[in-house]
Amino acid sequence: MRSFLALAAVATVIGAASPAGTTASATVFNPNPVQQLGDQNLADDKDADSPGFAAAYRQVTLTGLDGSGTLTGRYVRVKSSTGKAATADGGAFPAYHRDSDQFEQVMAYHWVTRAQDYLQSLGFGSTLRPVNQRQIEARINQFGGDNSFFRPDKANITLGKGGVDDGEDAEVIVHEYGHSVQDGQVTGFGTNLESGSIGEAFGDYLAVAVTSWAAGAPTLTDEACVADWDSVSYSSAPHCLRRLDGTKHYPQDVVGEVHADGEIWSRALYDIRAALGDRKASTLIIDAQFDFTKDTSFRAAAQATVAAAQRLYGASAASAATKAFTDRGLL
Ligand SMILES: [Zn+2]
Repeated sequence: MRSFLALAAVATVIGAASPAGTTASATVFNPNPVQQLGDQNLADDKDADSPGFAAAYRQVTLTGLDGSGTLTGRYVRVKSSTGKAATADGGAFPAYHRDSDQFEQVMAYHWVTRAQDYLQSLGFGSTLRPVNQRQIEARINQFGGDNSFFRPDKANITLGKGGVDDGEDAEVIVHEYGHSVQDGQVTGFGTNLESGSIGEAFGDYLAVAVTSWAAGAPTLTDEACVADWDSVSYSSAPHCLRRLDGTKHYPQDVVGEVHADGEIWSRALYDIRAALGDRKASTLIIDAQFDFTKDTSFRAAAQATVAAAQRLYGASAASAATKAFTDRGLL
């Protein structure tokens, strides 16, 4: 409780020193064309724009901008390697499409900001402790491989451009921001196999929770499928990077790789969400993470999550969380 008050005081100071920011209109995918159109046959086609994508572009209002006309704001600043930085004119960014590097820049800004909006909508920073109140750097297309990653030492995320540009899929962006969130809660979180697996699982869970919250559910593709668009270049239909509704069970399905083993944990989170609804589930899952150690085991993290359910919502929520973890062999 003492640390809660201290953190709340810090948040107040930051809020006072930093204005709410300005807004600008921009064009994004919401959250990705496969999910929006329900079309598993869309292809990257070497980053070409085509009429098949037209119905997936959405005009949105970017918030929290610093007014410089660049993609710099309260929670993220976008850095491009190509020298072609998105620039707003008169409160509007041009309607960039997917064949422009600037489109991925706008996507990164918008979806990191929406993820933070989601956290605040749950009460983090008002009734609950603030989460990840810092400006991270999003580097776009600086990495040639089809991978994205979070660098805790630099508090940034890098979105790769192999296959479908990772910045074209909001679920990839929010997954990476999930790592930033956990690092913001527990510095250096994820130092071994089980804690690292929890990190991957939480990124996947947050990706689905944020995009369903922002874009609406039910979705035209399986909600439990993560990164339906990024994965078209390396998976068969229905395209998924990973799923939240798998049947992996601890310990017999452990393979020693954080993304694969994360599917044990993410299924438990998804089951808590099915039992309690998105708002309660995400709130207790994220609040519990403050109590994790950076090298937590599955079991200790499950116990902390059940305790958060009990603390926030009482015995029936705690028993729903216990069942979700027990079903996976984690308790
Ligand atoms: Zn990850």
